[in-house]
Amino acid sequence: MYVFSPLLLIKIIPQERIAPLVSKMDENSHMDEEVIKSLFEQGLMGIEIDPEYGGTGSSFFSSILVIEELAKVDPSVAVLCDIQNTLINTLFVKLGTPAQKEKYLNRLSTDMIGSFCLSEAESGSDAFALKTRAEKHKDYYVINGSKMWISNAEHAGVFLVMANVDLSAGYRGITCFIVDRDTEGLEIGKKENKLGLRASSTCPLNFDNIKVPEKNILGEVGHGYKYAIGMLNEGRIGIAAQMLGLAQGCFDHTVPYTRQRVQFGKRIFDFQGMQHQIAHVATQIEAARLLTYNAARLKEAGRTFIKEACMAKYFSAEVATLTTSKCIEWMGGVGFTKDYPIEKYYRDCKIGTIYEGTTNIQLSTMAKFIDKEYNV
Ligand SMILES: Cc1cc2nc3c(=O)[nH]c(=O)nc-3n(C[C@H](O)[C@H](O)[C@H](O)COP(=O)(O)OP(=O)(O)OC[C@H]3O[C@@H](n4cnc5c(N)ncnc54)[C@H](O)[C@@H]3O)c2cc1C
Repeated sequence: MYVFSPLLLIKIIPQERIAPLVSKMDENSHMDEEVIKSLFEQGLMGIEIDPEYGGTGSSFFSSILVIEELAKVDPSVAVLCDIQNTLINTLFVKLGTPAQKEKYLNRLSTDMIGSFCLSEAESGSDAFALKTRAEKHKDYYVINGSKMWISNAEHAGVFLVMANVDLSAGYRGITCFIVDRDTEGLEIGKKENKLGLRASSTCPLNFDNIKVPEKNILGEVGHGYKYAIGMLNEGRIGIAAQMLGLAQGCFDHTVPYTRQRVQFGKRIFDFQGMQHQIAHVATQIEAARLLTYNAARLKEAGRTFIKEACMAKYFSAEVATLTTSKCIEWMGGVGFTKDYPIEKYYRDCKIGTIYEGTTNIQLSTMAKFIDKEYNV
């Protein structure tokens, strides 16, 4: 049984507090501060954090349901909630020292956004080829380098930065550092001007001789690659939920239109050619939901879930692409305009095939598992 009162509110918050702002936030490429505030107020930014640290004390599955519900209304808001809950908070909960937990979990559940910083200009899919260096001095490290594509960086108060302490050790030198926003030498670059997910900030970061105390290492030196892989494996279920919610939200806006719009003397919904397509897409969305919930269930039960998480993310992104494209077609000309939210869902969905591992990377990972399963 899940004890999670904010879930009771989760249908209300997106509709009342987010929906009226979606179009403006997209147009201005800016997340409204009130939206962020209400996510914190409703306990949606610290879903799995223990109430001892101001969190909601709920489950991973609850996080997945919240991400899905938010994405129905605005996938940009969903990704803010997703990264905070499935990557940042989880890393602190799993690896933080008592002092780190005390300092950061209290803030992350109440008023501080965190960013996850792995990708660089020359290391995307090949993430562990990263070049950001951390050089040890007495009781601190000096970090030099840069990151690309860092979600939520515009508002983040803390950055989890993967940097290499020993390039000769290859990926075994990668270490996770907690970097506060006000650290001298940390520069947050200009926001990317993106196709979709425009209200979610995506910025480059530059580290110019930034000094980070040794006590700000999260987990163990040289274990950053393990933490990153582990978190992204789980995080993919969050992206699957985001794509699922996005597809459902788009479908929910479109079907009522097809039931009202009349051509040739009847509702366009009543044409069999339309009905078969609508039923097909509804089935695909349901299948994406089952894959996503199954991966979340396995993860929560402590079972093997990596292949299933890849399948969920891969399939949900495909379904979101199909759904949003079909919805534009079913709406006719108005679907192509900004008078309806369909074109935004169409733009937003493309990210599902890119971040937290591209579609090719999901397929390659699945194939590795399949190969092992048949290696008898
Ligand atoms: C909006 C947005 C937000 C993001 N947020 C974050 C964030 O918060 N933190 C962070 O660290 N990163 C973030 N990223 C980065 C994201 O994770 C990378 O963009 C992603 O990993 C792909 O890397 P790349 O862009 O360098 O593409 P590349 O790795 O250059 O890939 C380009 C193409 O080559 C294919 N390819 C590459 N290698 C292989 C292979 N071995 N086999 C088959 N095909 C291959 C890919 O599938 C893809 O089609 C974000 C990106 C975007 C666009």
